[in-house]
Amino acid sequence: MTEKRLPFSKETLEKIAEKYPTPFHIYDEKAIRENAVEFLKAFSWAEGFREYFAVKALPNPSVLKLLASLGFGADCSSMAELILCEKAGIGGEMIMFTSNDTPAEEYKKAFELGAVINLDDITHIDFLEKTLGRLPELLCFRYNPGPLKGGNSIIGKPEEAKYGLTTEQMKEAYKIAAEKGVKRFAMHTMVASNELNPDYFAETALILFRLAAEIEDSLGIKMEFVNLGGGIGIPYRPDQTRIEWSVLSEKIKKIYDTVFSARSHKPKIFYELGRAITGPYGYLVTRAIHRKSIYKNYIGVDACMANLMRPGMYGAYHHITVAGKEKAPLSEMYDVSGSLCENNDKFAVDRKLPEIEIGDLLVIHDTGAHGHAMGFNYNGKLRSAELLLKEDGSVEMIRRAETLDDLFATLNF
Ligand SMILES: *Cc1c(COP(=O)(O)O)cnc(C)c1O
Repeated sequence: MTEKRLPFSKETLEKIAEKYPTPFHIYDEKAIRENAVEFLKAFSWAEGFREYFAVKALPNPSVLKLLASLGFGADCSSMAELILCEKAGIGGEMIMFTSNDTPAEEYKKAFELGAVINLDDITHIDFLEKTLGRLPELLCFRYNPGPLKGGNSIIGKPEEAKYGLTTEQMKEAYKIAAEKGVKRFAMHTMVASNELNPDYFAETALILFRLAAEIEDSLGIKMEFVNLGGGIGIPYRPDQTRIEWSVLSEKIKKIYDTVFSARSHKPKIFYELGRAITGPYGYLVTRAIHRKSIYKNYIGVDACMANLMRPGMYGAYHHITVAGKEKAPLSEMYDVSGSLCENNDKFAVDRKLPEIEIGDLLVIHDTGAHGHAMGFNYNGKLRSAELLLKEDGSVEMIRRAETLDDLFATLNF
């Protein structure tokens, strides 16, 4: 169970909305910091442990800098994400470049920044060598365990997923890389998305740790780190429960000790989580502008799917609180809809909510990852501002809302 609370009162929210018109995403800085610190603390037993925040989840320099100040790196998979890190002052091996189907320019940029390059395919060894004229000193390979690993509902079965190298290719890839003069080696996998079962991650770690040990033994190379990827879920629904960092850490430690305690070389452990770091600490705030009763009852709000795609795209549940009506009985049943000419532009379907009046502020929970970032401009809808609720209670605008001029900037009239 997860209690869905708001870090602000209705009065505070109304004051914020006076200055920054709805809709907007607002992130709770204190909660992000506390979660990040607790995560690192849980893994303090693992020497050299590092988390590379998945930039795509919340690509805002203010958040990247906050996390970097706590020791986080950044996980990138595109040119824009690499340049965002560069501009945020994150560079060198604090950047993990975990891309796929990668254009040559992006490898060049990653190399120029000194990022750790994580290859998605065995043919990319040659591709990278041709692109750079050499290979980097350090190379990481992304492993796809295929049938060794059961499926997860979002990413699906590993053998159906486009990512990574097969077990046989992994063994071959390190051999080729070593022959070509690569000096430092590392290993990565990511086979889940929004997964809430900690055993799933423990099982993945076991597969990866064993493969690392096996490759070390057969090729005589040392695996510098093992990157366990992202994909840890968050409790979007009140009846779900988060994975406690201490529980995850304990499970991983047990497996790490089983595989590596008797071995002289022990790789570092890395993660590249996005959702579980910032997801629960973001809120999309929107105002009810219409009520409509036809075959069902609708509340029309001033945000739409262009501000938060997950409900429309995956039918994902996002909890909704009506500000100031936290304790009111859930006496009504509504669809909460946006204005796109798309019937699936709904934040909630058949949702029990308190009676909503026009002008009420609705707070959509858990938009701190893969929220604003997945926004788009269909129907000419503009992406909203992003606000940071600071630890001292003040509010900073960390991205302004788009304007029609932004939207039209690529057109010739
Ligand atoms: C999306 C992604 C992540 C982060 O995923 P979360 O579900 O946000 O933790 C990490 N690594 C890679 C390669 C990704 O594609």
